[in-house]
Amino acid sequence: MLEKTLVILKPCTLQRGLVGEITRRFERKGLRLAGMKMMHLTDELLSEHYAHLSAKPFFQRVKDAMMAAPVIVCCYEGVDAVQTVRTLTGPTNGRFAAPGTIRGDYSMSFQENIVHASDSPETAAIELKRFFKPEELFEYKQATFDYLYANDEY
Ligand code: ADP
Repeated sequence: MLEKTLVILKPCTLQRGLVGEITRRFERKGLRLAGMKMMHLTDELLSEHYAHLSAKPFFQRVKDAMMAAPVIVCCYEGVDAVQTVRTLTGPTNGRFAAPGTIRGDYSMSFQENIVHASDSPETAAIELKRFFKPEELFEYKQATFDYLYANDEY
């Protein structure tokens, strides 16, 4: 099924000049870019976004790292996009992520791990509402769509 998912290019990605490298991977895979914007995150928004980490000792540090520079928030769409993007991203700790994954290729850190990616379709729907207004997400047919999927796959 066609799904939308949220990707955040973290401050470390902007500071390290990796924005092009990372967005290229999603583009080459065949995901459709449905929305993209640069923003500075706030402590309030991050407390909501990372609520599942609120009891962790590194909660504030993780939020601070996400506010250290602007981020780029992206919405990608594709069949099973949530799982596809998580697979491309790799596990949380970049040191142990497999080569070929984004974190495996670009990160040496548990925290400074290049991207955030929604972990389920339910979370993706909530997160996309948190970061995008409806008019900031765009519907258009990918010119390559018929060459990306068989017609029984979507
Ligand atoms: P993921 O981003 O892989 O879905 P989580 O939702 O568990 O992982 O954590 C959110 C973010 O918090 C991670 O991407 C990472 O930046 C940071 N984080 C998680 N666990 C740790 C940890 N043990 N030490 C430092 N930072 C962490």
